[in-house]
Amino acid sequence: MQCNGSCKKYKATGSTREGGRYEQGQKRCHRCEIYIEWEGLWCPCCGYLLRTKPRGTKPKRRKMLMKKSRLDP
Ligand SMILES: [Zn+2]
Ligand SMILES: [Zn+2]
Repeated sequence: MQCNGSCKKYKATGSTREGGRYEQGQKRCHRCEIYIEWEGLWCPCCGYLLRTKPRGTKPKRRKMLMKKSRLDP
């Protein structure tokens, strides 16, 4: 489904600092590119999965620790 504009009915109002929106229950639809106040996980407008967490989680990089096998003479 495409964005049909119905998401604007749920548009989250109030400007808060970035990062605090999710804590207030606001979710972001990447297809509609809008923050909405909606209890469901899916956008009521386009059906896209809403983002409920800020993108602050960095992927854990697994360090490849090469074990140096000492070859003592
Ligand atoms: Zn929409
Ligand atoms: Zn949407």
